[in-house]
Amino acid sequence: MSKESIHTHLEALRPQLQNMALDIWAHPEAGFHETYASNLQKDFLRGMGAKIIAPIDMLETAFVAEYGEGQPIIGLLGEFDALPGLSQKAGVNYREPLEENAYGHGCGHNLLGTGSIAAFVGLMLTMQEEGIPGTIRYYGCPAEEVYSGKSFMARAGVFDDLDCCLSWHPSGEDGVGYANNTALTTMEFHFTGTEAHAAANPHLGRSALDAVELMNVGANYLREHIIPSARIHYIITDGGRAVNVVPGRAASQYAIRAPQVDQMHDIRSRLIDIARGAALMTGTKMEYVLVGVYHNRLPNAALADLAYENYLQAPPTPWNEEELAFATSMAAAYPEGTVEKTVANYGISMEEVHNNLLPRPVRMGSKSKITGGSSDVGDVSWITPTLNMTGTCCPVMVNGHTWQAASCYGTTFAAKGMLRSGEVLAMTAYDLLTTRKEVLTQARQEWEQDKEGKHYIPIPSDLKPYLSEA
Ligand SMILES: [Zn+2]
Repeated sequence: MSKESIHTHLEALRPQLQNMALDIWAHPEAGFHETYASNLQKDFLRGMGAKIIAPIDMLETAFVAEYGEGQPIIGLLGEFDALPGLSQKAGVNYREPLEENAYGHGCGHNLLGTGSIAAFVGLMLTMQEEGIPGTIRYYGCPAEEVYSGKSFMARAGVFDDLDCCLSWHPSGEDGVGYANNTALTTMEFHFTGTEAHAAANPHLGRSALDAVELMNVGANYLREHIIPSARIHYIITDGGRAVNVVPGRAASQYAIRAPQVDQMHDIRSRLIDIARGAALMTGTKMEYVLVGVYHNRLPNAALADLAYENYLQAPPTPWNEEELAFATSMAAAYPEGTVEKTVANYGISMEEVHNNLLPRPVRMGSKSKITGGSSDVGDVSWITPTLNMTGTCCPVMVNGHTWQAASCYGTTFAAKGMLRSGEVLAMTAYDLLTTRKEVLTQARQEWEQDKEGKHYIPIPSDLKPYLSEA
């Protein structure tokens, strides 16, 4: 029985895969700079016999690992970038950075990539054993957090021939997702004026900071005339250096979110006009840079239903007493009542909850709902039907992008949860390759319907990856 074979292979590889996740956690890297993680994964996959295609487009750390031949072609998405300022000691319920202001894995992408690799190799070894036809791919995707790495990979066409794609994210529950999320674009606006002595010769100066401020005023008036579900956020990233100098340079960063990508594009073009207006009013010059562009996610119920079935069949995570005690101890990192409030959101009774862990897999959201946040998995979901799944790698009340999450994601508690998610992904892909091929057809029909005749809009052909200093 092949799902047992997947389990046997993953048990044999357990030490290596857990170590890989914890090794990447211990070497956190900024988006587009994930050389350590990318090389570690490529070497492992090459060693296992996968074909490696790299780099992709202009992305040094992006790669694709492939195994098999012919149809169907099933993708598994991986990530490995970290977040700034979230350096944190692992396995503790108090804040203690390993290095002040350094990067840390507060979103668990050390697990996200490695869990999908587990799925890939578990599946590959089973396909070899049983002579199962079809192609599987692991996508090593850089820079999910801010720079939408997958949108560059998408522009290079690497997802175009997929029959479907399976994605997951470390979280506080075993879940399958049915909800949309929002499209997002992040932009930087740079204004250049003329410096002058702020007291002696202000009439000779043209303030770039004035332009930034007037743009913000314009953007705040714009808010009344956009759809209520859209969001605009901004920060000033450069407001001048000395108060007695008229700032010759100033800059801001904006993010726009909307339920649909075309709504986001509309707001973006109006915001660019406001920036132009601010430059005109102040006698400065304006340039803007697109930092990241994310599509909203199209959920897929056919794929989510199949993954849910597999969650119910998968063997439980073999956490030991010490790991469960750690999960229990994390409640102390939150105000009293947080666990109860979080559990209530799932419609589960507290009597069923032990060690701050949900008792069973959950189905999350519906197509009429939009969850907060955005991800470049959305881009892939417009190119091929895409599964959205989560796996328990921390207690239920722990939210991503926090030190608590970074603490959890560096433990064997998390690495074991990751392997179980990898197994569920492999089991789901196995079904799609063998006895449940009809789900691929259903998933595609649903996807065509949900797109409502719209198509994926790739990022501009001249847009370069935004390489921040790491
Ligand atoms: Zn993430």
